[in-house]
Amino acid sequence: MSLSDFARYPLTFGPSPVHELNRLTAHLGGATIWAKREDVNSGLAYGGNKTRKLEYLIPEAIAQGADTLVSIGGYQSNHTRQVAAVAAKLGMRAVLVQENWVDWPDSVNDRVGNIMLSRIMGAEVRLDPAGFGIGFKSSWERALDDVRDRGGVPYAIPAGASDHRLGGLGFANWAAEVEQQERELGVFFDTIVVCSVTGSTHAGMIAGFAGQDRPRRVIGIDASAKIQETRDQVARIARNTAALIGLDRELRDDEITVLEGWAGDLYGIPVESTMEAIRLTGRLEGVIIDPVYEGKSMAGLIDLVTSGDIPASSNVLYAHLGGQPAINAYSALFRD
Ligand SMILES: *Cc1c(COP(=O)(O)O)cnc(C)c1O
Repeated sequence: MSLSDFARYPLTFGPSPVHELNRLTAHLGGATIWAKREDVNSGLAYGGNKTRKLEYLIPEAIAQGADTLVSIGGYQSNHTRQVAAVAAKLGMRAVLVQENWVDWPDSVNDRVGNIMLSRIMGAEVRLDPAGFGIGFKSSWERALDDVRDRGGVPYAIPAGASDHRLGGLGFANWAAEVEQQERELGVFFDTIVVCSVTGSTHAGMIAGFAGQDRPRRVIGIDASAKIQETRDQVARIARNTAALIGLDRELRDDEITVLEGWAGDLYGIPVESTMEAIRLTGRLEGVIIDPVYEGKSMAGLIDLVTSGDIPASSNVLYAHLGGQPAINAYSALFRD
Protein backbone atom coordinates (compact mmCIF):
# COMPACT_ATOMS: atom_id res chain seq x y z
CA MET A 1 0.00 0.00 0.00
CA SER A 2 1.06 3.57 -0.54
CA LEU A 3 -0.67 6.83 0.31
CA SER A 4 -2.21 7.10 -3.15
CA ASP A 5 -4.08 3.81 -2.58
CA PHE A 6 -6.25 5.48 0.07
CA ALA A 7 -9.41 7.27 -1.00
CA ARG A 8 -9.37 11.01 -0.34
CA TYR A 9 -12.55 13.09 -0.32
CA PRO A 10 -11.51 16.63 -1.26
CA LEU A 11 -12.53 19.16 1.39
CA THR A 12 -9.71 21.67 0.86
CA PHE A 13 -9.09 24.20 -1.91
CA GLY A 14 -6.03 22.19 -3.01
CA PRO A 15 -2.45 22.69 -1.83
CA SER A 16 -2.39 25.21 1.02
CA PRO A 17 -0.40 28.41 0.40
CA VAL A 18 3.29 28.64 1.31
CA HIS A 19 4.89 32.07 1.75
CA GLU A 20 7.80 33.74 3.44
CA LEU A 21 7.44 35.64 6.73
CA ASN A 22 10.11 38.17 5.86
CA ARG A 23 9.50 40.77 8.56
CA LEU A 24 9.52 38.11 11.27
CA THR A 25 12.68 36.65 9.74
CA ALA A 26 14.40 40.06 9.76
CA HIS A 27 13.23 40.78 13.30
CA LEU A 28 14.61 37.53 14.72
CA GLY A 29 17.82 37.84 12.68
CA GLY A 30 18.38 34.12 12.16
CA ALA A 31 16.90 31.39 10.00
CA THR A 32 14.58 32.23 7.11
CA ILE A 33 10.99 31.60 8.19
CA TRP A 34 8.16 30.52 5.92
CA ALA A 35 4.60 29.49 6.69
CA LYS A 36 2.27 26.92 5.16
CA ARG A 37 -1.27 28.01 5.85
CA GLU A 38 -3.79 25.40 6.96
CA ASP A 39 -5.82 28.28 8.41
CA VAL A 40 -6.86 29.18 4.87
CA ASN A 41 -6.91 25.68 3.37
CA SER A 42 -10.67 25.36 2.89
CA GLY A 43 -13.92 27.21 2.38
CA LEU A 44 -15.59 25.05 5.04
CA ALA A 45 -15.95 27.17 8.19
CA TYR A 46 -12.38 28.54 8.11
CA GLY A 47 -10.76 25.13 7.60
CA GLY A 48 -7.72 24.06 9.57
CA ASN A 49 -5.65 20.95 10.12
CA LYS A 50 -8.61 18.71 11.01
CA THR A 51 -10.22 19.39 7.62
CA ARG A 52 -7.18 17.83 5.97
CA LYS A 53 -7.33 14.77 8.23
CA LEU A 54 -11.04 14.35 7.52
CA GLU A 55 -10.34 14.06 3.79
CA TYR A 56 -9.11 10.53 4.52
CA LEU A 57 -11.82 9.54 7.05
CA ILE A 58 -14.86 10.65 5.08
CA PRO A 59 -14.58 7.98 2.33
CA GLU A 60 -14.80 5.32 5.06
CA ALA A 61 -17.80 7.06 6.67
CA ILE A 62 -19.57 7.15 3.31
CA ALA A 63 -18.67 3.51 2.55
CA GLN A 64 -20.16 2.47 5.90
CA GLY A 65 -23.41 4.26 5.10
CA ALA A 66 -23.00 6.70 7.96
CA ASP A 67 -25.47 9.57 8.23
CA THR A 68 -24.11 11.16 11.43
CA LEU A 69 -20.57 12.19 12.35
CA VAL A 70 -19.99 11.89 16.09
CA SER A 71 -16.99 13.57 17.66
CA ILE A 72 -15.59 15.06 20.82
CA GLY A 73 -13.46 18.00 21.98
CA GLY A 74 -13.28 20.95 24.35
CA TYR A 75 -15.88 23.75 24.36
CA GLN A 76 -13.64 25.73 21.98
CA SER A 77 -12.57 22.72 19.91
CA ASN A 78 -11.49 23.64 16.39
CA HIS A 79 -11.79 19.98 15.50
CA THR A 80 -15.50 19.62 16.30
CA ARG A 81 -16.22 22.86 14.38
CA GLN A 82 -14.54 21.35 11.32
CA VAL A 83 -16.51 18.11 11.77
CA ALA A 84 -19.73 20.19 11.90
CA ALA A 85 -18.75 21.95 8.66
CA VAL A 86 -17.93 18.72 6.85
CA ALA A 87 -21.19 17.12 8.02
CA ALA A 88 -23.12 20.12 6.70
CA LYS A 89 -21.31 19.98 3.38
CA LEU A 90 -22.05 16.25 2.98
CA GLY A 91 -25.68 16.49 4.10
CA MET A 92 -24.96 14.49 7.25
CA ARG A 93 -25.76 15.28 10.87
CA ALA A 94 -23.13 16.02 13.50
CA VAL A 95 -23.31 15.16 17.20
CA LEU A 96 -20.55 16.85 19.16
CA VAL A 97 -19.61 16.13 22.77
CA GLN A 98 -18.01 19.33 24.04
CA GLU A 99 -16.14 18.89 27.31
CA ASN A 100 -14.85 21.47 29.73
CA TRP A 101 -11.17 20.92 28.81
CA VAL A 102 -10.07 24.39 29.82
CA ASP A 103 -10.90 26.08 33.10
CA TRP A 104 -11.05 29.47 31.49
CA PRO A 105 -13.12 32.18 33.20
CA ASP A 106 -14.35 33.91 30.03
CA SER A 107 -18.12 34.10 30.45
CA VAL A 108 -18.77 33.48 26.76
CA ASN A 109 -16.42 30.49 26.47
CA ASP A 110 -19.31 28.12 25.69
CA ARG A 111 -21.08 30.57 23.40
CA VAL A 112 -18.71 32.32 20.96
CA GLY A 113 -16.08 31.24 18.47
CA ASN A 114 -15.96 27.59 17.49
CA ILE A 115 -18.98 26.42 19.45
CA MET A 116 -21.14 29.17 18.00
CA LEU A 117 -20.03 28.23 14.48
CA SER A 118 -20.92 24.57 15.11
CA ARG A 119 -24.39 25.59 16.29
CA ILE A 120 -24.84 27.83 13.22
CA MET A 121 -24.02 24.85 11.01
CA GLY A 122 -26.72 22.75 12.67
CA ALA A 123 -24.62 20.42 14.79
CA GLU A 124 -26.12 18.91 17.93
CA VAL A 125 -23.81 20.35 20.58
CA ARG A 126 -23.75 18.52 23.93
CA LEU A 127 -21.98 20.33 26.72
CA ASP A 128 -20.30 17.99 29.20
CA PRO A 129 -18.48 19.08 32.37
CA ALA A 130 -15.70 16.43 31.97
CA GLY A 131 -12.10 17.67 31.89
CA PHE A 132 -9.18 17.44 29.44
CA GLY A 133 -8.15 14.02 28.20
CA ILE A 134 -8.04 12.09 24.98
CA GLY A 135 -9.36 8.76 26.31
CA PHE A 136 -12.82 7.25 25.84
CA LYS A 137 -15.69 8.69 27.83
CA SER A 138 -19.20 7.62 28.79
CA SER A 139 -20.65 10.79 27.23
CA TRP A 140 -19.09 9.66 23.98
CA GLU A 141 -20.59 6.15 24.18
CA ARG A 142 -23.94 7.73 25.00
CA ALA A 143 -23.75 9.97 21.93
CA LEU A 144 -23.11 6.98 19.68
CA ASP A 145 -25.93 4.98 21.33
CA ASP A 146 -28.36 7.87 20.96
CA VAL A 147 -27.69 8.08 17.23
CA ARG A 148 -28.28 4.33 16.84
CA ASP A 149 -31.41 4.46 19.03
CA ARG A 150 -33.01 6.97 16.71
CA GLY A 151 -32.22 4.81 13.69
CA GLY A 152 -29.12 6.63 12.48
CA VAL A 153 -25.74 5.26 11.46
CA PRO A 154 -22.97 7.01 13.40
CA TYR A 155 -19.37 7.38 12.28
CA ALA A 156 -17.10 7.89 15.28
CA ILE A 157 -14.28 10.41 14.99
CA PRO A 158 -12.04 10.59 18.09
CA ALA A 159 -10.63 13.82 19.53
CA GLY A 160 -8.58 15.60 16.88
CA ALA A 161 -9.24 12.65 14.50
CA SER A 162 -6.00 11.30 15.92
CA ASP A 163 -6.64 7.97 17.61
CA HIS A 164 -8.03 6.57 14.36
CA ARG A 165 -6.38 4.19 11.90
CA LEU A 166 -6.55 6.76 9.09
CA GLY A 167 -5.86 9.86 11.22
CA GLY A 168 -2.24 10.32 10.12
CA LEU A 169 -2.86 10.18 6.38
CA GLY A 170 -3.89 13.81 5.92
CA PHE A 171 -0.51 15.07 7.04
CA ALA A 172 1.42 12.33 5.27
CA ASN A 173 -0.21 13.91 2.23
CA TRP A 174 0.87 17.35 3.50
CA ALA A 175 4.48 16.12 3.39
CA ALA A 176 4.07 15.13 -0.25
CA GLU A 177 2.52 18.51 -0.97
CA VAL A 178 5.47 20.30 0.65
CA GLU A 179 7.92 18.38 -1.57
CA GLN A 180 5.98 19.42 -4.66
CA GLN A 181 5.80 23.07 -3.56
CA GLU A 182 9.54 23.07 -2.83
CA ARG A 183 10.20 22.09 -6.43
CA GLU A 184 8.01 24.95 -7.64
CA LEU A 185 9.56 27.51 -5.27
CA GLY A 186 13.16 26.33 -5.56
CA VAL A 187 13.62 26.07 -1.80
CA PHE A 188 14.21 23.20 0.65
CA PHE A 189 12.74 23.36 4.15
CA ASP A 190 15.28 21.56 6.33
CA THR A 191 13.20 22.24 9.46
CA ILE A 192 9.46 22.02 10.04
CA VAL A 193 7.86 23.42 13.21
CA VAL A 194 4.39 22.19 14.15
CA CYS A 195 2.12 22.30 17.18
CA SER A 196 1.30 18.91 18.71
CA VAL A 197 -1.53 17.89 21.05
CA THR A 198 -3.57 14.86 19.96
CA GLY A 199 -0.61 14.01 17.74
CA SER A 200 -1.70 12.90 14.29
CA THR A 201 -0.74 16.15 12.57
CA HIS A 202 2.90 15.87 13.63
CA ALA A 203 2.85 12.06 13.32
CA GLY A 204 1.47 12.12 9.79
CA MET A 205 4.18 14.57 8.75
CA ILE A 206 6.90 12.36 10.25
CA ALA A 207 5.60 9.32 8.38
CA GLY A 208 5.24 11.24 5.13
CA PHE A 209 8.65 12.91 5.23
CA ALA A 210 10.35 9.64 6.22
CA GLY A 211 9.67 8.27 2.76
CA GLN A 212 11.38 11.20 1.00
CA ASP A 213 15.01 11.29 -0.13
CA ARG A 214 16.29 14.30 1.79
CA PRO A 215 16.18 14.13 5.60
CA ARG A 216 14.85 17.07 7.59
CA ARG A 217 13.93 17.93 11.18
CA VAL A 218 10.24 17.82 11.99
CA ILE A 219 9.96 19.54 15.35
CA GLY A 220 6.72 19.17 17.28
CA ILE A 221 6.00 21.74 19.98
CA ASP A 222 3.86 20.32 22.76
CA ALA A 223 0.82 22.44 23.64
CA SER A 224 -0.91 19.88 25.86
CA ALA A 225 1.38 20.31 28.89
CA LYS A 226 1.37 16.51 29.12
CA ILE A 227 4.63 15.88 27.33
CA GLN A 228 4.94 12.14 27.87
CA GLU A 229 1.41 11.48 26.63
CA THR A 230 2.04 13.63 23.57
CA ARG A 231 5.35 11.91 22.79
CA ASP A 232 3.82 8.43 23.17
CA GLN A 233 0.84 9.31 21.04
CA VAL A 234 2.95 10.91 18.27
CA ALA A 235 5.34 7.93 18.20
CA ARG A 236 2.52 5.40 18.04
CA ILE A 237 0.57 7.21 15.31
CA ALA A 238 3.74 7.95 13.30
CA ARG A 239 4.72 4.25 13.31
CA ASN A 240 1.18 3.09 12.48
CA THR A 241 0.89 5.61 9.66
CA ALA A 242 4.34 4.74 8.29
CA ALA A 243 3.34 1.06 8.16
CA LEU A 244 -0.01 1.93 6.58
CA ILE A 245 1.56 3.88 3.71
CA GLY A 246 4.18 1.21 3.08
CA LEU A 247 7.34 2.82 4.44
CA ASP A 248 9.87 0.03 4.00
CA ARG A 249 11.74 0.64 7.26
CA GLU A 250 11.08 1.31 10.93
CA LEU A 251 11.01 4.93 12.09
CA ARG A 252 13.99 5.77 14.28
CA ASP A 253 13.48 7.37 17.69
CA ASP A 254 15.46 10.43 16.55
CA GLU A 255 12.84 11.07 13.86
CA ILE A 256 10.23 11.67 16.58
CA THR A 257 10.94 14.98 18.29
CA VAL A 258 8.36 16.62 20.55
CA LEU A 259 9.77 19.52 22.54
CA GLU A 260 8.35 20.88 25.79
CA GLY A 261 8.79 24.31 27.31
CA TRP A 262 6.12 26.49 25.70
CA ALA A 263 2.84 24.94 26.86
CA GLY A 264 2.86 26.50 30.31
CA ASP A 265 1.20 24.44 33.03
CA LEU A 266 -2.11 23.75 31.34
CA TYR A 267 -3.62 23.02 27.96
CA GLY A 268 -5.59 25.99 26.70
CA ILE A 269 -4.08 28.58 29.03
CA PRO A 270 -1.62 30.98 27.38
CA VAL A 271 1.56 32.08 29.13
CA GLU A 272 3.71 35.18 28.59
CA SER A 273 5.64 33.65 25.67
CA THR A 274 2.33 32.72 23.99
CA MET A 275 1.08 36.30 24.25
CA GLU A 276 4.36 37.72 22.93
CA ALA A 277 4.28 35.33 19.97
CA ILE A 278 0.68 36.30 19.15
CA ARG A 279 1.45 40.03 19.28
CA LEU A 280 4.72 39.72 17.35
CA THR A 281 3.19 37.65 14.55
CA GLY A 282 0.21 39.98 14.33
CA ARG A 283 2.25 43.18 14.34
CA LEU A 284 5.02 42.09 11.97
CA GLU A 285 3.08 39.93 9.54
CA GLY A 286 -0.64 40.59 9.91
CA VAL A 287 -1.00 36.89 10.63
CA ILE A 288 -3.33 35.85 13.46
CA ILE A 289 -2.50 32.93 15.74
CA ASP A 290 -4.43 31.62 18.74
CA PRO A 291 -3.63 31.30 22.46
CA VAL A 292 -4.26 27.51 22.66
CA TYR A 293 -2.10 26.05 19.90
CA GLU A 294 -0.34 28.22 17.36
CA GLY A 295 0.73 30.89 19.85
CA LYS A 296 2.60 28.18 21.72
CA SER A 297 4.25 26.60 18.67
CA MET A 298 5.23 30.05 17.38
CA ALA A 299 6.76 30.85 20.79
CA GLY A 300 8.82 27.67 20.36
CA LEU A 301 9.90 28.66 16.87
CA ILE A 302 10.89 32.15 18.04
CA ASP A 303 13.10 30.74 20.81
CA LEU A 304 14.67 28.04 18.63
CA VAL A 305 15.53 30.58 15.92
CA THR A 306 16.74 33.22 18.36
CA SER A 307 18.98 30.78 20.25
CA GLY A 308 20.49 29.41 17.05
CA ASP A 309 19.24 25.90 17.85
CA ILE A 310 17.73 26.24 14.40
CA PRO A 311 20.78 27.67 12.59
CA ALA A 312 20.70 30.92 10.59
CA SER A 313 21.38 28.96 7.40
CA SER A 314 18.07 27.07 7.77
CA ASN A 315 14.84 27.48 5.89
CA VAL A 316 12.12 26.82 8.47
CA LEU A 317 8.55 25.99 7.52
CA TYR A 318 6.04 26.92 10.21
CA ALA A 319 2.84 24.87 9.88
CA HIS A 320 0.00 27.29 10.67
CA LEU A 321 -2.75 24.83 11.61
CA GLY A 322 -5.64 27.31 12.00
CA GLY A 323 -7.59 27.82 15.21
CA GLN A 324 -8.37 31.54 15.11
CA PRO A 325 -12.09 31.26 16.00
CA ALA A 326 -11.16 30.29 19.59
CA ILE A 327 -9.55 33.70 20.09
CA ASN A 328 -13.02 35.16 20.65
CA ALA A 329 -13.21 33.32 23.97
CA TYR A 330 -9.98 35.03 25.10
CA SER A 331 -10.98 38.67 24.62
CA ALA A 332 -9.95 39.65 28.16
CA LEU A 333 -6.31 39.05 27.25
CA PHE A 334 -6.26 41.77 24.60
CA ARG A 335 -8.09 44.65 26.27
CA ASP A 336 -5.01 46.80 26.57
C1 LIG B 1 -5.93 20.39 16.75
C2 LIG B 1 -5.03 21.54 16.53
C3 LIG B 1 -3.64 21.41 16.73
C4 LIG B 1 -3.00 20.15 17.21
O1 LIG B 1 -3.05 19.14 16.23
P1 LIG B 1 -3.04 17.62 16.70
O2 LIG B 1 -3.16 16.82 15.48
O3 LIG B 1 -4.19 17.47 17.65
O4 LIG B 1 -1.76 17.38 17.44
C5 LIG B 1 -2.86 22.53 16.51
N1 LIG B 1 -3.39 23.70 16.11
C6 LIG B 1 -4.71 23.85 15.91
C7 LIG B 1 -5.21 25.18 15.47
C8 LIG B 1 -5.57 22.77 16.11
O5 LIG B 1 -6.89 22.94 15.90
